[in-house]
Amino acid sequence: MHQHSLDISVDADLCIGNAMCRQAASRTFVTDEHGQSVVGEPPLDGREQILHAVSACPVAAIVVRDAETGEELFE
Ligand code: SF4
Repeated sequence: MHQHSLDISVDADLCIGNAMCRQAASRTFVTDEHGQSVVGEPPLDGREQILHAVSACPVAAIVVRDAETGEELFE
C-alpha cells in the first residue's frame, strides 16, 4: 500500500489481531475476516499515526518503508 510515500504491510503470519494498530491509525488498518489487521485501501492516516502503529504492535508485524528509498521507517 502506498500513502505519503510510504509502503505499508502487515505480516499475517505474525499478527495476533489485538487491534493496537487500529487504535493508533484507525483510517489505515482495518480488520479482515480472520480478525487480523490489514492495510485499508486507501490508507488515510498521516505518517506520524502510521509510524505510531508500527511501534504499538507487540509482535512487530507492521513494516513501513519509504516508497522511494526502501528504507524501513520507525517512530
Ligand atoms: S497491532 Fe500488530 S498484532 Fe495487533 S492487530 Fe495490528 S498488526 Fe496485528
